[in-house]
Amino acid sequence: MAARNPRKLIAGNWKMNGSRNSLAMVEALRAGAGAGGVGADLLVCPPATLIAPVAQALAGSAIAVGGQDCHALASGAYTGDLSAEMLAEAGATHVIVGHSERREHHGETDAMVRDKMRGAWRAGLVAIACVGETKAQREAGEALAVVGAQVKALLESDVGGANTAIAYEPVWAIGTGLTPTVADVAEVHRLIRATIAQAVGPETAAGVRLLYGGSVKPGNAAELMAADDVDGALVGGASLVADDFLAIARAC
Ligand code: PEP
Repeated sequence: MAARNPRKLIAGNWKMNGSRNSLAMVEALRAGAGAGGVGADLLVCPPATLIAPVAQALAGSAIAVGGQDCHALASGAYTGDLSAEMLAEAGATHVIVGHSERREHHGETDAMVRDKMRGAWRAGLVAIACVGETKAQREAGEALAVVGAQVKALLESDVGGANTAIAYEPVWAIGTGLTPTVADVAEVHRLIRATIAQAVGPETAAGVRLLYGGSVKPGNAAELMAADDVDGALVGGASLVADDFLAIARAC
């Protein structure tokens, strides 16, 4: 019987930022995490070109490395795409799928995201699937309906804590400095947990980590991470600065 994971997962999404110079920041992260005081699991998701060097720099540490997207298939004539198997070979153990920036700029639908989740599982990666409402949807009172439908569309009988995390990322909170109230975050996470429970049962649902993402910073991490049903954070901007990322992890 799966229980809630007692350790939070703090995942950093570097987006299209970073270069080999970022390896110095990764060293600082490794040193900071090794110095103690971090009770959370850490994951960094650099651009694909940096997965292998970052994984090398973090070898032997407790910090995991992930990709930011993958193709649903293992190989084929898909110029420019990367499969989950390729990410795994480069050293990734996780992959973000369905980030709102992919949904917006690359037209990714729930069905495409679900196929990418399957690809991640096939390659042995943990899929971090992103969901979240737009500002207009929240203002129209549709946040719960939108997120509930997104989660439902992603679920499969295979979902479990060992292969899946769900990141609730209100689109209007990403990179804006705005965040929902703690009560709003807890309400959406409760709905996500209940939706997963309907599909795979409450015991399995309890083990799926639910991350909050959207302008998480050292100053607001403690209250957001203390909200009910929040098992960690997906962090964008603040993950690019080792001290900020570590401060968020220490706030858990
Ligand atoms: C993100 O891109 O997943 C994100 C949460 O970004 P930020 O923390 O910068 O809002």
